[in-house]
Amino acid sequence: MKGYLTFIKFTFKYKYYAVMNIVCNVLSSIFGLFSIALVIPLLDVLFSTAQNNTTKHVRTNFDFNHIVAWGKENVWYYKEFYGAETVLLFICGFVVIMIALKNVFRYLALFYMVPLRNFIVSDYRIAAYNRILVLPLSYFSKEKKGDLLSRMTSDLHQIEVAIMSSLEAFTKEPITIIISLVMLIWVNPILTLIVFSALPVSALFAALIGRLLKKQSARSQSKLGDIVALIEETLMGVRVIKAFNAQDFLLKRFLVQNKLFTDLNIKANRTSDGSSPISETISIAVFATILWIGGKMVLSNEYGMTASVFIGYLTVFSQLMSPAKAFSSAYNSMNKGLASIDRVNEIIDSQEVITEKPNAHSILKFQETIEFKNVSFKYDEEHVIKHLNLTIKKGQTVALVGPSGSGKSTLTDLIPRFYDPTEGQILIDGVDIRDYKILELRGLMGIVTQESILFNDTIANNISFAKQNISKTQIEEAAKIANAHSFIIENENGYETNIGDRGNKLSGGQKQRLSIARAVNTNPDILILDEATSALDTASERLVQEALNNIMLNRTTIIVAHRLSTIINADLIVVLEKGRIVQQGTHNDLIQQNGTYKQLIQMQQIPE
Ligand code: ADP
Repeated sequence: MKGYLTFIKFTFKYKYYAVMNIVCNVLSSIFGLFSIALVIPLLDVLFSTAQNNTTKHVRTNFDFNHIVAWGKENVWYYKEFYGAETVLLFICGFVVIMIALKNVFRYLALFYMVPLRNFIVSDYRIAAYNRILVLPLSYFSKEKKGDLLSRMTSDLHQIEVAIMSSLEAFTKEPITIIISLVMLIWVNPILTLIVFSALPVSALFAALIGRLLKKQSARSQSKLGDIVALIEETLMGVRVIKAFNAQDFLLKRFLVQNKLFTDLNIKANRTSDGSSPISETISIAVFATILWIGGKMVLSNEYGMTASVFIGYLTVFSQLMSPAKAFSSAYNSMNKGLASIDRVNEIIDSQEVITEKPNAHSILKFQETIEFKNVSFKYDEEHVIKHLNLTIKKGQTVALVGPSGSGKSTLTDLIPRFYDPTEGQILIDGVDIRDYKILELRGLMGIVTQESILFNDTIANNISFAKQNISKTQIEEAAKIANAHSFIIENENGYETNIGDRGNKLSGGQKQRLSIARAVNTNPDILILDEATSALDTASERLVQEALNNIMLNRTTIIVAHRLSTIINADLIVVLEKGRIVQQGTHNDLIQQNGTYKQLIQMQQIPE
């Protein structure tokens, strides 16, 4: 139901196109049906041998009977004057003009429909993408990447093909159906009752199929999400797959998922295919009944049913069949698409958990301290940070060390509010960070992670990134500080070189130095380095470390360190274990104690 509501909201924005589409469709239906319906009495007169019993009048009323009577009079008149053949030719010409007009309006209706369709899907796409940009990190660890990708692509496509292409049917077909029914009632009300009696049966049947289709489509779209996830994983891991000869292993996983998806699709296709033969059988049963009862009326000459009226009736009835069919297939498509609308709406409506208070404080400069006060945090059930207290002073270099999984990265994620603590507070300059404006808070920080996140764009754009209005000189300055300038200018196009998807045309160390240049560019007060050198070989590590030393000057730095050799000179070393601080002090302090730090140092064979 909610799916319908958001859909109507999106459609309402483009009501002009919707209204124009409806108006053109009404006109198109009227021209189409009138051309056929008016031909009936005319033919009747034309082939009749009876004497002319009407005279030509000027009429001002435009109801059906008047129009028909007017038509009849003219045909009588012209038949006598010009002969039957000419009048027949005239009638045929009349039908062609009417049908041409019908199609002009049909094209106009589609003309207005196209922007409506595309704008609505485009709005859905924008809304979903916008949401993805602001959603908290916790959302992405819960939702599978592949599933999100499939919602953003396949489900949106489904909305376009299933809903948008059938949307029009909901205005156009009922108009044609109603106009046809009115005509049928006008020609013969009794016979028309029979048509009506079949309606509830068809409607019930359509509703059942519709419900089933929606359920099946939701399942199949979600399975497609699994497949996209698998493909994404495979593309990311091509190198490892080849190295470990894991093709068979992955193929097996893929075959399982693919079979489930195919089976679901087969089921859904069979359901929707079933709808057409059943509805056709119902309609042919109705048609046969009409033939039988109507035929009897003609034979016994009852209810004013002549042969030509009956032919006319059947012609209009046959005109009713195709919109009825189109309507029911549109209804099926709509149900399939609604499953996709629900899936896209789940992204659009997902809750923002990291929120800004209405009268949040401004923070443009970091002045004194970052304090963790009794901070605890959990992703799921278990706390991964437990009652942690820590003070970091401006200008200090603080290193977080400890075994893998001890909570180092999580701790750094709490400072820019990627996650909020479940207990306790983090204060910057004495104010809870939840009281600051989020963008300004994050603006204080520069982050370099182990995996350098680069975008398929030029080197210059990857460095300037969010700050698009900075000069070339500033970009070069940043690159020089990050030890990246020399390798950049070696490229033929220098700063304008495109670095490929995720920067895969660069080495690990080069990527990392670009990430550092990007961080330099924002000139952050607080620098967060999360194992920034751990994935590099010794030579690149030296270059990257030099770059880091350059940018750490005069800044407050929090380093998550894997290689302890890089943090020996830190002002404060904090040793974490299972989410708690077990030791803190300088290298010299800690080495005196017989604790975890000393063991780590010994493991890495660093001279004390
Ligand atoms: P470290 O950086 O010290 O290696 P992390 O902060 O990455 O440790 O992880 C601390 C704990 O939190 C680990 O037990 C890890 O499994 C868990 N964890 C990390 N990220 C997530 C996440 N997105 N969802 C659930 N658990 C997580």
